[in-house]
Amino acid sequence: MNEIRIPAPQWEDVATPALLEQKETCMSFFTRTGFGGRALSVLAERAPAGAYLRRTDVAAELAPAYLVELTARARRMGAGLVMAHTHPFDHGMPEFSDVDNAGEEPLRAFLEARLPTQPHAAMVISQGGVRARVLGGAAAVKVVRVGAEVRTLFDPDLSASSFSHDVYDRQVRAFGRAGQTAIASTEVALVGLGGTGSVVAQELAHLGVRRFLLIDPDKLETSNRNRVFGAQPELIGRHKVEIAAENILKVNPQAQIETRVEDVLTRAAADRLAESDFIFLCTDSHASRAMVSQLAYQHLVPAIDMGVSIGVGDAGEVREITGRAQMLAPGLGCLLCAGAISSEVVRIEMMTEVQRAQDPYFRGQGEPQPAVVSLNATMSSLAVSMFMGAVTSAPFRARYQWYDGVTGRLRTPTVGRNPGCLVCSSSGVIGHGPSATNPLRGAR
Ligand SMILES: [Zn+2]
Ligand SMILES: [Zn+2]
Repeated sequence: MNEIRIPAPQWEDVATPALLEQKETCMSFFTRTGFGGRALSVLAERAPAGAYLRRTDVAAELAPAYLVELTARARRMGAGLVMAHTHPFDHGMPEFSDVDNAGEEPLRAFLEARLPTQPHAAMVISQGGVRARVLGGAAAVKVVRVGAEVRTLFDPDLSASSFSHDVYDRQVRAFGRAGQTAIASTEVALVGLGGTGSVVAQELAHLGVRRFLLIDPDKLETSNRNRVFGAQPELIGRHKVEIAAENILKVNPQAQIETRVEDVLTRAAADRLAESDFIFLCTDSHASRAMVSQLAYQHLVPAIDMGVSIGVGDAGEVREITGRAQMLAPGLGCLLCAGAISSEVVRIEMMTEVQRAQDPYFRGQGEPQPAVVSLNATMSSLAVSMFMGAVTSAPFRARYQWYDGVTGRLRTPTVGRNPGCLVCSSSGVIGHGPSATNPLRGAR
């Protein structure tokens, strides 16, 4: 385990109030194993008042009976445990105390005997920060809180995230060193490098994002040249991910870029996506968007879905011009709840060519849609600002924006969450990781 990811609503329900207590307070995060050494919190629980053997302002010890009951539940869930406690009077970066060190070894032996297949961790939370390590070991573990705001609460490798002050001076003036560091240390995945994705990639390169994962199976076609950023005539036939990678490197020659010429609905691409830190969803395929929307909650990788639409009437007249940008993360509604996914379109997109040809309901879904560069760039810029608002303290607060190109109006509706949603509700897949299924092509 090298990273613990915790949904923001869990943190706010359990850790935030625990820090208001005048005594040390214990809590547990039940985790599932994600990809890339991540532990994903599915449930947070504060130790009840009767669970302590002793509890003062400088020490807290849990009773064996409670630990037995806690580990029995974790075992039934197939979960690991992050055993956390507060140092309520510490306003600096917390350290594990001598008391913590002495108590952790027997706890490690206890958990390893009862839950040998799961990784466990210890965490200490003060008013000034968070620290975590593998239970009973020396290895430090990164901690990330994922919600409408994404915050790295503890990063053992922060020194690796330095950036050039000369280049980013104007941005540091806007959202501070910590914000620029957060941008530099976030691996951003782009699904789709067409009309919107190619613009987002360019803006992120200027913003200081240094690690990119680019996923798109398509090659540049002549009809893309009106809107794909940097689409010069001689690049026709090249893969869109390669063109985007070259454009990023022109802005930042040090950028680390992984390109995948792959449909995101393949197992390999989806699993790799689940290891990234932030996703821009820049495809108009409903099947891809449904899958990535679920993945964002399931693997605790926040995403921004964006899209544009130019509606044309029967006589060819333009009736509506709209764009959307919506963030997907625990605490925010998913694409299903936003009504942004058509299950009928998903069904058709998941068919093979042969099935589609035989389907009586399939008509003209493959027709090219109208598209213009300025609308794409408008929505791309709104999405990139939303990203800044999510990963830095810059006050870009909107998490759902709806643009009406006809009136020029920008609305920020709230997505109502379905309390029984199988994706984004508390009975959904938040933090379930690979243990939950997500429909992929050829894997139904
Ligand atoms: Zn302690
Ligand atoms: Zn939902």
